[in-house]
Amino acid sequence: MRTKIIIGNWKMNKTRQEAHDTVAAFTELVKNVDGVEFGFCPPFVYLAELASSSSISIGFGAQDVFWAGSGAFTGFTSVAMLQDIGAKYAIIGHSERRGRFGKLEVPASTVGSFAETDETVNLKLKACLAGGIVPIVCCGETLAEREAGNTDSVIATQIAGALDGIVEADMGPLVIAYEPVWAIGTGKVCDSAEANRVCAMIRGCLPASIQATTRIQYGGSVNPGNARELFSMPDIDGGLVGGASLKAEDFAQVVLAAV
Ligand code: PEP
Repeated sequence: MRTKIIIGNWKMNKTRQEAHDTVAAFTELVKNVDGVEFGFCPPFVYLAELASSSSISIGFGAQDVFWAGSGAFTGFTSVAMLQDIGAKYAIIGHSERRGRFGKLEVPASTVGSFAETDETVNLKLKACLAGGIVPIVCCGETLAEREAGNTDSVIATQIAGALDGIVEADMGPLVIAYEPVWAIGTGKVCDSAEANRVCAMIRGCLPASIQATTRIQYGGSVNPGNARELFSMPDIDGGLVGGASLKAEDFAQVVLAAV
C-alpha cells in the first residue's frame, strides 16, 4: 500500500508573513489528519524558517536543488544545505524550469537561463538520492506533443533520462510527478482516467523491483473539486499542487481528499 503524498508548490508567491500565516492556518485544518503525507515547497528564502517552525508533520521542500556538493556555483543550493535546514523534499525538472520556462511567450534568447534538461534532472536526482532528500521528479508532455500522439514516448524518454545510471537499490525514496504542461496553472485538469493511464505507463517504465512501491503524483490544476476523483485512481498516489496550495483552506481540502 503506497501512502499518498500531496505537495504544495508555491512557486514565486507570498510575503514572509503570508507564508507563516498560510502554514499556521493549514496546520489548524489538518492537525488531526492521518494516513497521508503532505508538505509545502515555498520559495527558498522562507524555507529554513518554515521547516524549523512546523509543529505537526508538515514536510517542507525546495523547488529546485543543485547537484554539486559545494563550491563556486553562484546562486545555487546544495542537497547538503537542504538537509542542514531540515528540508525533506526537492522538486526536480518542473516544466517551468525546463525548456522555455514552460511559457512560450518567454523569448528563445532567455531559454539558456532556465533550460533544465533530462541530464540535469539526472544529476540532481543522483545528488538527492545520495544525500537523503526525497526527490520529486516532474515529467509531462506539452499540448503540441500530446496532439502529435507523442505523450507516452516523450514521458518515457524523460523517465529514462532521469534514471540513467542509477541502480534500482538506490531508487527507494523516488517520487514522480506526472504534470502535463498544458494542465499546469491553466484550470484544464487532465481527465482522471487518462491521468491514471499515463501514471500507470510511467510505473511500467520503472525497474520491476520498485514499480509497486514508487509513488506517482498527478499535477496540473488539482483543486478541491477534482482532487478526490483523481486520488481515487489506482495509479495516482497523490498530487503536486500549485495554485490550490496557496490558500490554506483549499490545500487542506485537497489533502483531505486523499485520506
Ligand atoms: C505545479 O506547479 O506543479 C502545478 C501543478 O500547478 P497548478 O496546480 O497551479 O496547475
